[in-house]
Amino acid sequence: MGNRLKEALLIEEIRYPMASYISHLECTVCGKSYPHEQLIGISPCCEKVLFARYDLAKLGREVDRDSLVSRPDTMWRYAELLPVDDTGSIVTLGEGGTPLIRTVNLAEKLGMTNLYIKEEGLNPTGTFKARGISAAVSKAVELGVNGFTMPSAGNAAGAAAAYGARAGMETKVFMPQDAPDANKKETLVAGSELNLVEGLINDAGREAVAVAKELGLFDLSTLKEPYRAEGKKSMGLEMAQQLGWKMPDAVIYPTGGGTGIIGMYKGFKELLELGWIEGKQPKFISVQADGCQPIVRAFDAGADSSEMWENATTKADGLRVPHPFADYLILEAIRSTGGTALAVSDQEMIDAMYEMATSEGIFPAPEGAATLVGLKKLLGQKFLDPDESVVLFNTGSGYKYLDLISGQKRS
Ligand SMILES: *Cc1c(COP(=O)(O)O)cnc(C)c1O
Repeated sequence: MGNRLKEALLIEEIRYPMASYISHLECTVCGKSYPHEQLIGISPCCEKVLFARYDLAKLGREVDRDSLVSRPDTMWRYAELLPVDDTGSIVTLGEGGTPLIRTVNLAEKLGMTNLYIKEEGLNPTGTFKARGISAAVSKAVELGVNGFTMPSAGNAAGAAAAYGARAGMETKVFMPQDAPDANKKETLVAGSELNLVEGLINDAGREAVAVAKELGLFDLSTLKEPYRAEGKKSMGLEMAQQLGWKMPDAVIYPTGGGTGIIGMYKGFKELLELGWIEGKQPKFISVQADGCQPIVRAFDAGADSSEMWENATTKADGLRVPHPFADYLILEAIRSTGGTALAVSDQEMIDAMYEMATSEGIFPAPEGAATLVGLKKLLGQKFLDPDESVVLFNTGSGYKYLDLISGQKRS
């Protein structure tokens, strides 16, 4: 990698030593190891998700958790637990370091004492997709890629376009034809090639893989490379740190491809193994849309994997993933933590966008608003207790979904 790139990539001089403790990659099905020094997508053995593994014993001996806190407030403050070896390869726009906002009015209304919103809408490109894409693009740059393909229902495309531009690399995006305007435009403005595909994200995925193969580009599909989940893992690390190295009792997360839930569950496991936190993992709760709920159906059926959700429709584009590739890992995170999965309607999400904004001043994406609907249902069913500490994930900014908001004041 040239110096030009190196200079261009750093938004700030990172003065602390940042050595990744990554040791290898591991197949999430059979446990087979692979070196992390090569570009790789899914596991060749089982054709499933690969996880990055770290030398946690060494990290635990050499690094003090509190030394991370004084670093610049981006996700790269956790560099030891992220996959990039060479600082110069980091492609960053300042992702992460988002506030964990303790709600006042919502908590009071719901009779709760510890209700938080993790405000991921403040990330570059307006969603938490920035975290995963920053990690994946950085590692790919380190390993010498020429460019990227990205199939996306929306926000991942915007992030890939932005980070691709930042890295000075070609990015080809594949989107369902009816993807939101905001996502099409942010992709185009960043100079990516935008390919509109008939069908859904799965169809876009097939095309992206084919083009990547043909042109020697690296495909960034959700969980079909190991590092986007590592970037999203930083949400868990950050949340634990923000709570004073503690975990909440429950995390409510709008689930599409599942990178966030899988990443955070993995991150908490690593922190527990390091001894940086204690106790049991939060209940992971997946919220999906009525019109696309493969994980809810699989969870209810007691299945270990999901079936394709036919004719998936929802205005929450991040949730329009009819057959998540990593379904088995999402279900494991939910089940092993005593969590649950439930679906909400688009209208409920839109109403909750207003409610979150009216009560706390946070203008959420419909996906983020879905977590508030889920919370209310689970309090009503007494699945959650108002005394429990709960974190809602607002995964994106409502500014990307202005067409869902009418021009009139609601009474
Ligand atoms: C992609 C996306 C989701 C789903 O995220 P996963 O981690 O893939 O499950 C939720 N909300 C928004 C706004 C998204 O863009």
